[in-house]
Amino acid sequence: ALVDRIGAVDGAVHAFLHVDAEGALATAADIDDRRAKGEQLSYLAGVPIAIKDVLATKGMPTTCGSKILEGWIPPYDATVTATIKAAGLPILGKTNMDEFAMGSSTEHSAYGPTHNPWDTTRIPGGSGGGSAAAVAAFEAPLAIGTDTGGSIRQPGALTGTVGVKPTYGGISRYGLVAMASSLDQAGPVTRTVLDAALLHELIAGHDPMDSTSIPDAVPPVVAAARRADVKGLKIGIVKELGGEGFQPGVEARFTEAVELLTSAGAEVVEVSIPSLKYALGAYYLVMPSEASSNLAKFDAMRYGVRVAPAGVDDPSAEQVMASSRDAGFGDEVKRRIILGTYALSSGYYDAYYGSAQKVRTVLARDFAAAFADVDVLVSPTSPTTAYPLGEKLDDPLAMYLGDVATIPANLVGIPGLSLPVGLADEDGLPVGLQFLAPQKADDRLYNAAAALER
Ligand code: GLN
Repeated sequence: ALVDRIGAVDGAVHAFLHVDAEGALATAADIDDRRAKGEQLSYLAGVPIAIKDVLATKGMPTTCGSKILEGWIPPYDATVTATIKAAGLPILGKTNMDEFAMGSSTEHSAYGPTHNPWDTTRIPGGSGGGSAAAVAAFEAPLAIGTDTGGSIRQPGALTGTVGVKPTYGGISRYGLVAMASSLDQAGPVTRTVLDAALLHELIAGHDPMDSTSIPDAVPPVVAAARRADVKGLKIGIVKELGGEGFQPGVEARFTEAVELLTSAGAEVVEVSIPSLKYALGAYYLVMPSEASSNLAKFDAMRYGVRVAPAGVDDPSAEQVMASSRDAGFGDEVKRRIILGTYALSSGYYDAYYGSAQKVRTVLARDFAAAFADVDVLVSPTSPTTAYPLGEKLDDPLAMYLGDVATIPANLVGIPGLSLPVGLADEDGLPVGLQFLAPQKADDRLYNAAAALER
């Protein structure tokens, strides 16, 4: 049914960069056989899934939405992919994304944008617009996204799906093509909180292949999603994430959701995180710095396309690298590589990268102080609903501003969940509410979100 659904709607949505109908159907048939034989299977065996094209999938193209990796077929699986395969989830294919996960609208994909299933003239959010749109358009019940500054949660908000960025280190980054290694985190994209918890618990856990992987036990997220009880829970509204720049319809749904939490027994207070005003600036230094370093490996020697420089008879390796990177990378990727290279250059490192890292420390302290008083924090996930395709494409700064509510979680490594909380009055488009919790307390997000969902 899902393969048919993809065939029927993906021409208009373009959630997928690669569909593996044959492989998915073969896995599904195999699971049916094994189940018929009475074999003990994973609780998600047979449930199809779509995977963001930034995670390595052995034998299946992995492009990261970039021309530079066109035709690359990884010889290995990301740990998340391997776990999904071992648990018997049919992989429907790879989903569209902004090139190397750089963007908030999926318009920076080298293979054309994804369209929001609620209104195909609008963006689905990004960078993981493909995963969110696939779930929202009923092309897949589950998807994997990655979130460096909001790429799971913001598309979730804009498409009316549940998106979770787990605690940094909660899910292995092995085989996740790095954008900014200290911020990247994979996580679930689903239609319900319990679905997200089931997928989270499957893919989480320690991985010796990822040196930043947390060795502790996985937070009990499924039990928390089933508990769904906010009686006595202390919830803090982040004062700085609202008001000016936030669309009235987004604020209205947010306020209403908070009232529902209060009537369900939660105690709601206002909380201030003063350093939040520096978060966006710090993010847009740390992220390009790390990206400029991570993307240096795309040199046309080891991966992907190689483009000979025009009019040069016997080009040097350096000339081939330059022409390949020029042809293979899109404008947004080049912009960030240049910004990051500048921020890391000798003489500027302390002023830019160094200062940004200090902001990160201050932010972590402010969040810790807030969590000394409350169990979870809430804010709108995105200041606006889905905007028309093209609207912010030529104004990078305007697009970056849309990440204001999501990037703090990445800077301090805490988990965040975006829950659909209805439609904005002015445009009838989905609104998301974000829950934030302290590091390793991912279960609190699921408990509170499931209570509100109910
Ligand atoms: N929109 C943010 C950016 O452009 C976040 C991207 C992400 O989380 N991958 O960097």
